[in-house]
Amino acid sequence: MPNDEDTKKRWRVLEWGNGTNGIAPVGAVGLETVLNRLDEEGYDIYDVDMSRCWVTGRLKPDEVEDGFSLPISIGQLLQREGTEKIVESLRQPSPPTESDAVREMREYQIQGIHTPQFMGNLRVVMYAASMGDPYVEQRLTQAIKESLFQISHAELVKTLSDVEFFREHHLKHNCDAPTCTSAKVYDSTIQKLKDRLAANPVS
Ligand SMILES: [Zn+2]
Repeated sequence: MPNDEDTKKRWRVLEWGNGTNGIAPVGAVGLETVLNRLDEEGYDIYDVDMSRCWVTGRLKPDEVEDGFSLPISIGQLLQREGTEKIVESLRQPSPPTESDAVREMREYQIQGIHTPQFMGNLRVVMYAASMGDPYVEQRLTQAIKESLFQISHAELVKTLSDVEFFREHHLKHNCDAPTCTSAKVYDSTIQKLKDRLAANPVS
């Protein structure tokens, strides 16, 4: 008989409620059931997707690792691609006269104190997405974890609002392809931040 521990998959996704595929009842009881089940089976809770009713579990590491499961971290990606190249790709060409796009960006007051750092990480994720990186969702989760870990509910609301502004600005002024990867990253980010807010309501 094979050792159970050896054959365990690194990732597991359990679904609760939400129709016929759910393994547990709807609502908080179902969520609690799948969280406890993953925990008992030796998985860390990696992500909770409230809209799909999915919980993603990651096998608890045997020993302390660097904390991230990505094959290439954002730091390594920067190193591989060259920081200058990435910074260059993110730079907006500056028009001789101030356009609406530039003025709107200049007039906008960033609300969240964590927003600048988060947007920096988000731009790297968008860069990776534009290069066809297959780990965009995981990178996004990592960027949210890194920049927005343990911030207050109020600050998360402010950062979400900032990201929504940047998304609208992008769609209005810089988005020219229907298959734009940045727009997809924005959409996914906003959904993840909303899920996180929903999972941690103000007490
Ligand atoms: Zn776009």
